[in-house]
Amino acid sequence: MLTTLSQSSLQDYVDCARRFQLRYLERLSYPAVESEPALENEKHQREGEYFHRLVQQYLVGVPNDQISKLANSANLQRWWENFLVASDLRGLAPLRSASGVLRKDLEGLYPEATLSAPLGKYRLLAKYDLIAIENGKATIYDWKTYHKRPRNEWLAARMQTRVYRALLVQAGTHLNNGQAFAPEQIEMVYWFSDFPNDPARFTYTSAQYKRDWELLAKLAEDIHSASSHPLTDDRTKCTYCPYRSYCDRGVRAGDMDQAEAEMESEELFDVNFEQIGEIAF
Ligand code: SF4
Repeated sequence: MLTTLSQSSLQDYVDCARRFQLRYLERLSYPAVESEPALENEKHQREGEYFHRLVQQYLVGVPNDQISKLANSANLQRWWENFLVASDLRGLAPLRSASGVLRKDLEGLYPEATLSAPLGKYRLLAKYDLIAIENGKATIYDWKTYHKRPRNEWLAARMQTRVYRALLVQAGTHLNNGQAFAPEQIEMVYWFSDFPNDPARFTYTSAQYKRDWELLAKLAEDIHSASSHPLTDDRTKCTYCPYRSYCDRGVRAGDMDQAEAEMESEELFDVNFEQIGEIAF
């Protein structure tokens, strides 16, 4: 029985109720590769996951030169160098000493934080790449290894942007001396490893929070009471969907070059991040 919801499962439900059913209720593994060439796609996913681990190691104080040795592919090296010099991330630098070792007053930095809160009959769960708290402001960082820089409008509408900010208000009291964050204290930053100086920033307001939480509660209610899970009418959603063969909507996935032209395909990387296990160092 499904007991938790996440930004990925909610996004699937919004995109296609049938996909939500197959992935989260029937727990079907992927019957078709997501895109061609599949190997290239999988390599990018693995590198993206590995990059997240490198940043996590950095944030918990592993010295830079040790981490650099682990960036052992052209993509990883480029992303890692971009991360180290990104002007937007220099705000994290004072949290480390000159030698790269974390200072003792690091209670404001929470890499890989997991928050959850009740949402209707479910728990809403989110794993954050980083929550950084400084001077009464909470910044949510999310690292993206997308091939292309998505439009801000597309990102703003994603369930991740809504869930991560709203859940920090709902479930972040222990990060704010026992008081709930006001939405106005929260900002979400998507940092793109191939576009290091063009992050997407989303501030938050009480009106947006109210709208988001009402939407999330309504989705949870819809999911709980749904008696059917219809296929989406928007067939463009099927082009890169791994469940095409179940829906009679094609067997061969879209070509990767074409996928890159459509930012919606990038969501598949995110979904897979959640499904890939921790990489041991
Ligand atoms: S192939 Fe299309 S209809 Fe079927 S689950 Fe995927 S998105 Fe939904």
